[in-house]
Amino acid sequence: MQTYELIGIGFGPSNIALAIALQEQQHHAGAADMFFIEKQDSFAWHGDMLLDNSHMQISFLKDLATLRNPASRFTFLNYLHQKERLSDFINLKTFYPSRHEFSDYLRWAADQFSACCSYGEEVIEVQPELQEGKVRLLRVRSRHRDGRITERLARNLVIGVGGSANIPETFRGLREDARVFHSSSYLRHIAAFDKPARIAVIGAGQSATEIFLDLHARNAGHEVDFIMRSRNIKPSDDSPFVNEVFNPEYTDYVYRQDEPTRHALMQEFMQTNYSAPDLALIEQVYQVFYKQKVTGQQRHRLLRCHNVERARAEADGVWLDLHDLDGGSAQTRRYDAVVLGTGYTRELHKDLLAPLASYLPHFAVGRDYRLQSTPEFEPAVFLQGSCEPSHGISDTLLSVIAIRTAEIGQALRERDENAPFAARRAMVASIAAASRGSPQFSL
Ligand SMILES: Cc1cc2nc3c(=O)[nH]c(=O)nc-3n(C[C@H](O)[C@H](O)[C@H](O)COP(=O)(O)OP(=O)(O)OC[C@H]3O[C@@H](n4cnc5c(N)ncnc54)[C@H](O)[C@@H]3O)c2cc1C
Repeated sequence: MQTYELIGIGFGPSNIALAIALQEQQHHAGAADMFFIEKQDSFAWHGDMLLDNSHMQISFLKDLATLRNPASRFTFLNYLHQKERLSDFINLKTFYPSRHEFSDYLRWAADQFSACCSYGEEVIEVQPELQEGKVRLLRVRSRHRDGRITERLARNLVIGVGGSANIPETFRGLREDARVFHSSSYLRHIAAFDKPARIAVIGAGQSATEIFLDLHARNAGHEVDFIMRSRNIKPSDDSPFVNEVFNPEYTDYVYRQDEPTRHALMQEFMQTNYSAPDLALIEQVYQVFYKQKVTGQQRHRLLRCHNVERARAEADGVWLDLHDLDGGSAQTRRYDAVVLGTGYTRELHKDLLAPLASYLPHFAVGRDYRLQSTPEFEPAVFLQGSCEPSHGISDTLLSVIAIRTAEIGQALRERDENAPFAARRAMVASIAAASRGSPQFSL
């Protein structure tokens, strides 16, 4: 069984940036000894939400490398230069490229690490590898599309698996119904609806708003109910002083606070990222509804202050019981499809690490993103993108990725310095030899 210095689970922007940082920092002789496992068949950045006209919500300068090393060859500017589009991009006079272009930039960077990434493998769990009562290594188990299982050993682990679709309780029973789907699989599912359909979009955030506008623009002529609990669609606040919460140094400030203060900070700055589309999108939605008033033809409906109390699937459609939180009235409406723009949860690491839970008390995380562990646990496990409660609202975004990966690289370097290289190599080699008999098997 192959043993690696470092295994990264997921190969999205967080772990791509890590690969770049480690390569550039020439972290140790084992820089080439890193390996990433990605469940998608090839690189894609939220591919089912790559809608026409969608744009980045932060400056391209918050790319994979610039904030850590503006001279990196992996900057967005160098990507433009390599693609011979730099002058043309300058003419656009924007900090906010299209998501299509940024996705292409990320793929361009990811492709340069194809030798150390395996696609089409989903990590299903991480087990402890014990020797003399100590956890020396981690056994990373992944499943291929055809059901085969591969196991690899790692001395260090970095988990960058992003968010999982948040499905509200009301809709959990309808998960298998292709007519009810989350924004994270929007393009995949909506393709089946090529005739005029009645569609409900649930939520009031960026994704729900983008989807409403996308459905409006489709030739099929869908009728859309845009349903939200909130009283209004409020824009994200990206004004300069507020935006400082996304500065990498703000992470230090958040991490230093006690839990109630961190929680209060999250609440205070919620409007920068959650249930808060860009103002320009909100204005487009307003235009759509205003035009309906001018023509007198109501195609779409904006149902503010509405809660979905119940959802049930019937042969003729999905029926939603709606409760008007303002007026108190109730109605039941039939839809051909329901799109959930209901956000993401970030707990997947706890499932993957469940076999290690007794060594990782409460999954508490240090400032360097390393999970705190009991003394008999030797490997280091780092989290990327699931530390919002401890490290602040920027944690799930691109804003801090370049700096965070430098910090993780630094933590790895310090581990190396504390463990003599030769001794460590010998230890890893002996465990790998002991594990060599372990079969790779299929389910
Ligand atoms: C539609 C959309 C638009 C966004 N736009 C912006 C923006 O403009 N600016 C911004 O700052 N942020 C934006 N975000 C936030 C987003 O979280 C970050 O842009 C970025 O994708 C975070 O990178 P990541 O690598 O941490 O997570 P992800 O990009 O989610 O990547 C995680 C990767 O891990 C893989 N994975 C998951 N589970 C496993 C497993 N068990 N085994 C193997 N692989 C696995 C996934 O397939 C995925 O490729 C957006 C999010 C969405 C959904």
